[in-house]
Amino acid sequence: RANTTISMALLAAIFAIYRIDSGRRLRMERELGRAVRNGDIEVHYQPQVRGNGMVSGVEALLRWRHPSGRLLSPEAFIHLAEESTLIREIGLEVLRQACELLQAWSTDPRTRSLRVAVNISPVQLLDDSLVASVAQRIQATGIDPSLLEFELTESALSTEGAAMIARMDALESTGVSWALDDFGTGYSSLATLRTLPVRTLKIDRQFLAEATRQESAQRLLGKIIEISHVMGMDALVEGVETREQRDLLIHLGCDHFQGYLFARPMPRAALHAW
Ligand code: C2E
Ligand code: CA
Ligand code: CA
Repeated sequence: RANTTISMALLAAIFAIYRIDSGRRLRMERELGRAVRNGDIEVHYQPQVRGNGMVSGVEALLRWRHPSGRLLSPEAFIHLAEESTLIREIGLEVLRQACELLQAWSTDPRTRSLRVAVNISPVQLLDDSLVASVAQRIQATGIDPSLLEFELTESALSTEGAAMIARMDALESTGVSWALDDFGTGYSSLATLRTLPVRTLKIDRQFLAEATRQESAQRLLGKIIEISHVMGMDALVEGVETREQRDLLIHLGCDHFQGYLFARPMPRAALHAW
């Protein structure tokens, strides 16, 4: 009987934890639902630079100013945002702010050729209204769409790949360009890669981390950069944290760099000062 009692107690405990957890989730989902309306969606920007140190653009990175006052990074809520499809609304808010930045930049000769990269969730990409929303934003702000770059993670192509690629093509016809994010962590074949409307390969930072430790990993990274060029794409490596890494990447022929060595993601005002 003692065993039964213990089992019952355990079950009750598990159930209680589950209820607290789903309660917390529900509350967070409600809060997130209000975030766009309340102006709590912030966008930080991380510079992307060329080998000669010139800035070529920035990546827009989402932040949520939670009602508690804390600034939450996407890792804390992006999963929930995708499951609840709130990411559609949130993604459009990021796009709105990114287009506003491009619009402001277009009036200054020092900034008017800089690009802004915006992350697109697969959930957004499969939304039927995305293409029209993007076209509308471009028209409303009068920006040059070739300065807007959308990033899709390579792993997004593993499910409903054909549908994703069709949407990428449709968006490309509005004038925006594509970058394939976290490249090397998904499973796309070289045959598929050739057919994608992608201008930039963003090589995952894991390859760089390994290349600084291992000779064979260094050769692999060099080959991936070469493959980008053979496919007519630019190579961008993320997660550049040290001078040694930057020098190695320049040696390997990398075109664009992004990472803490150059700058961390920062609010728009700080970016302007930077
Ligand atoms: P990601 O697209 O791969 O973005 C790069 C992440 O690496 C960013 O994290 C950035 O802060 C971080 N990072 C930049 N330089 C370095 C470095 O030198 N070292 C290291 N260790 N990290 C570096 P963040 O801002 O927390 O974003 C995390 C992920 O959330 C992004 O990964 C992206 O997948 C997603 N995300 C961010 N903004 C959006 C958005 O607007 N929409 C969607 N759908 N996803 C977004
Ligand atoms: Ca990205
Ligand atoms: Ca990435």
